[in-house]
Amino acid sequence: MITAIKNRQAMEPWEQILSKGITTPQDLSSFMDVDESKIQQVISPYPMFINPYYLGLIKEKGDGIYRQAIPDIREITQANGFEDPLNEEVLSPVPGLTHKYPDRVLFLISSRCAMYCRFCNRKRKVGRSSMVTRKSIREGLSYIRATGKIRDVLLSGGDPLLLPDSELYQILCELRSIQHVEIIRIGTRVPCTLPQRITPQLAGMLNGFHPIYINTHFNHPSEITPEAAHACAMLADAGIPMGCQTVLLKGVNDDPAVMKELMQRLLTIRVRPYYLFQADLAKGTSHFWTPLEKGLEIISELQGHITGLCIPRFMIDLPGGGGKIPITPEYVRGMKGNELVIKNYLGEEYRYPLESSSK
Ligand SMILES: *Cc1c(COP(=O)(O)O)cnc(C)c1O
Ligand code: SF4
Repeated sequence: MITAIKNRQAMEPWEQILSKGITTPQDLSSFMDVDESKIQQVISPYPMFINPYYLGLIKEKGDGIYRQAIPDIREITQANGFEDPLNEEVLSPVPGLTHKYPDRVLFLISSRCAMYCRFCNRKRKVGRSSMVTRKSIREGLSYIRATGKIRDVLLSGGDPLLLPDSELYQILCELRSIQHVEIIRIGTRVPCTLPQRITPQLAGMLNGFHPIYINTHFNHPSEITPEAAHACAMLADAGIPMGCQTVLLKGVNDDPAVMKELMQRLLTIRVRPYYLFQADLAKGTSHFWTPLEKGLEIISELQGHITGLCIPRFMIDLPGGGGKIPITPEYVRGMKGNELVIKNYLGEEYRYPLESSSK
């Protein structure tokens, strides 16, 4: 089945791109005009890593790509928010594995990312190598093997696709040897932030572990490049249904026109919008927060105007570990007699009988 895992002698092209990642204010100032001392202050608690591919998507200072990648002094001057907004650590039976819902687990298998997103809700952990270890992966696999009600394993990190093919292959083999694991999901930002990582070898390898699903993460139309389209096509051609988990971010995509373009363009690269997340209340990210009504406004402006295929569900992940809950605009206005009063997507009022069965 799997013959394509090569002995890696030279660095692959994606590893070469990563090896040129920007981590210091001095590196960054050779590409753009920045305040080096401010950048230094921010990155001492929250490290910076921007690979040259993603950096190249910045068109101008302050655009939607810039804001996701370049450290902002407000990360340290606005101290509101929580270190662990979702209580993941409390809900972890073993380090790196969160079992919050009855039938599925979140399993962190990599501590690397192709870039460090400034809004990341795991920013207290990302870039710290202690987050995932060989031991935590082994313990996570044992927990899954011993827990019969887990039918769905969501691999995350960091970014699982930054593991070498051979390590990912071993983890997938282990998971597939567990009878009760029905589906495997991979949460990865690589198709967006480092599409060169998606190679024919990787896609072919993943193809051997179906049913496998990928949820990727695009936040701005400028991220949908020919390279990203090519990466998503390889994964879709390998039979992997592709979803997208977008985060609603002030100054990046908190505009119905930008969001509509993003959602429509995702469908053209065969990625189906899944969730639109309200930004988590993570410390150091408050300059990205939007009022809850903004997400509802955006969903209302999409609903009915474009196909339901490209409308994500708007989700909040409840602080304190309460889980993800969809928030939907209210279309039901009330009841009149035996009828429901409903507003359609254009704001026009309609009635629908409460009791439609014939007597
Ligand atoms: C998001 C998440 C999942 C998966 O949730 P779905 O709604 O099934 O996509 C599972 N476990 C944890 C801890 C999560 O945060
Ligand atoms: S890729 Fe995901 S885990 Fe990594 S920094 Fe970005 S949002 Fe966080």
